[in-house]
Amino acid sequence: MNERRLDGTHQGAKAPASPVPGAGNQPVETKRLTVVTHPLVQHKLSYLREKTTPTVHFRKLTEEITLLLTYEATKDLPTEDVEISTPLETTRSPRISGKKVAVCPILRAGLGMLDGVLTLISGARVGFIGLYRDEETLQPVEYYVKLPQDVADRDVILLDPMLATGNSTAHAVQLVKNAGASSVRLISIIAAPEGIVNIQENHPDVQIVVAAIERQLNERGYIVPGLGDAGDRLYGTK
Ligand code: URA
Repeated sequence: MNERRLDGTHQGAKAPASPVPGAGNQPVETKRLTVVTHPLVQHKLSYLREKTTPTVHFRKLTEEITLLLTYEATKDLPTEDVEISTPLETTRSPRISGKKVAVCPILRAGLGMLDGVLTLISGARVGFIGLYRDEETLQPVEYYVKLPQDVADRDVILLDPMLATGNSTAHAVQLVKNAGASSVRLISIIAAPEGIVNIQENHPDVQIVVAAIERQLNERGYIVPGLGDAGDRLYGTK
């Protein structure tokens, strides 16, 4: 995909002034943060943002963008060459090796991303993390957690379409780590700089893949310009 490295080896335009590389949507990749600027992703994201986009299209776009972000988020999965037999001869060919995947949507909006991951990784186990945000304190409140029993032995992919303050997501990361997970990736569609900083400070090992980093959070904790309430738009509840 179309990223520029900011780990000291990048070329071209100078880095943005923002404390979060990539804010403002410059193509960027650091070791732990990737903003996917592929035209297909950005095109679909523009429709997703549009307030007139109906629920049915919002759902489909969320799934499609997640699929494309999953492609990016899994690009460092280890492979090993195995012997296979084509109809013509035997040869050696790479297969994914190492841990299997557990994909964990943060309810409820993360559910809208689940099928996008499962389309590519159909054998993944699924864990559910039910958190809601207290609208006054903006702190996460846990109401349901069901993780695969062997989550400690799996690469975890957390799904949360809106990385806002990052409090819920950081809480979810801690939950899967407490269950023994040692490899955690986060796929979000839109992130606020505050959310990125929160995860990077509290969980610097987590690889973050997003389609856009926005200007800021507003006084109600919404990402602006953003796309509104992802759960409401996915499920038509408002
Ligand atoms: N959650 C959302 O759904 N939207 C935001 O802008 C922030 C958090």
